[in-house]
Amino acid sequence: MLATFLQNEQFIQALYILSFTLFIIGLRGVTSPATARRGNMTAAVGMAIAVVATLLIPETGDFGLIALGVAIGTIIGVPAARSVQMTQMPQMVALFNGVGGGAVALIAWAEFRRSGGDLPLEEMIPILFAAIVGSISFWGSNIAFAKLQEILPGKPISLPGQQFVNGALLLVAIGCAVAIAAGSGAELLFIGILVSAAVLGNMFVLPIGGADMPVVISLLNAFTGLSAAAAGIALGNIALIVGGIIVGASGSILTNLMANAMSRSIPAIVAGGFGGVDLTTGGDGESKPVRSTDASDAAIQLTYASRVVIAPGYGLAVAQAQHAVREMANELEKHDVEVVYAIHPVAGRMPGHMNVLLAEADVPYEKLIEMDDINSELPQIDVALVIGANDTVNPEAGMPIIDVQQCGQVIILKRSMSAGFAGIDNPLFYNENTSLLFGDAKESVANVTGEVKEL
Ligand code: NDP
Repeated sequence: MLATFLQNEQFIQALYILSFTLFIIGLRGVTSPATARRGNMTAAVGMAIAVVATLLIPETGDFGLIALGVAIGTIIGVPAARSVQMTQMPQMVALFNGVGGGAVALIAWAEFRRSGGDLPLEEMIPILFAAIVGSISFWGSNIAFAKLQEILPGKPISLPGQQFVNGALLLVAIGCAVAIAAGSGAELLFIGILVSAAVLGNMFVLPIGGADMPVVISLLNAFTGLSAAAAGIALGNIALIVGGIIVGASGSILTNLMANAMSRSIPAIVAGGFGGVDLTTGGDGESKPVRSTDASDAAIQLTYASRVVIAPGYGLAVAQAQHAVREMANELEKHDVEVVYAIHPVAGRMPGHMNVLLAEADVPYEKLIEMDDINSELPQIDVALVIGANDTVNPEAGMPIIDVQQCGQVIILKRSMSAGFAGIDNPLFYNENTSLLFGDAKESVANVTGEVKEL
């Protein structure tokens, strides 16, 4: 009796509706740092309900194999997610996203085999779409992961006639799909789709430089969403359709926002060839004179200021200096110094990177000021403290920046004269009102705090 009720079609659909309602509520939650954690949990509960609903479908299949899959996924996924450093998050997203695309491509293949290639067009077309886009997403994401993890060089890798080869690969995939849609049930054609889309996925990401990689990951994320939605249409699974469309839409919006913040167009990013620096080397700054300072002078400048802006960047994340920064700000506030934080949309290595780090150190949200809002106030600020940021404050970066040189004084905390992620030398370092405090950001901040306490 209970089993009949649980396996009832309407009950399963109701669970799916509940699950995607929770996705949407969860998405609303992640729009603010204050509710982001709850939003994430809400969406995770939605996903758990969708999984249970799917397992209730009578023809779901071999529970032994499903349990094995869940066990393998848990054993690999949970420790990886727990141990990943915040600075490695883009790679992690690339991997998880890629696996999603790969799963969609495999589902499409399984459905094709199950039907023996004989499906009505309204099911076959979404399956073919899911196979092409899911496969591109999986193989492209793997390359993105390898570049960010520095398994592959971050610089663009181009082959002669690359665009032509990519066009030809896409034509092969579409050609095979059209042949299948026209009635050929040959599995070889389906494998042809998967293979040509796989090579296309690799070839599409290889020429793109490391600096553009997070944008590409977001684009591939959108692809995975669209392919999942297509698989949902073919399977008649409403939660998959809605979930896929949410991922597709939010991935597309995020891609656009990131490209705009870097003043790059998406076609230019996809065409590749930018961001060709080795991720570990820097500019040629050594030849020009710069002013270096020490913790004690920096502490005096900061303590006698009335307003200080902190511009955090990737180096703050690497040094894990967020708690030390909060402690320094507390000490400065005891001296009646007003401290705010200037947040560049692409500071760090993922959108919202700085917000997450500073929230972890309990910096109040209202102290985090977006680039567009802070820039007009900078001329009224006495000291800008740039902590591990480079491109996002570099007047030559070719994108909108936090223009700290408008402040009375600029103190830059970094370890060397190396350039930032885009590899462009930073003229800010050589300005009259700039001084550099060399060293690891966490240590430098702790030293400054120690000196402020003495004043
Ligand atoms: P950058 O990567 O430009 O610079 C970081 C600086 O931190 C380096 O110059 C480095 O100098 C310094 N640094 C590294 N480790 C430490 C440490 N332990 N202590 C002190 N300093 C350290 O950072 P930004 O945040 O300014 O810019 C982000 C870059 O990433 C931009 O180019 C952006 O376009 C790109 N990007 C970001 C995305 C995002 O979503 N956030 C997406 C795509 C690209 P040194 O080695 O001398 O210490």
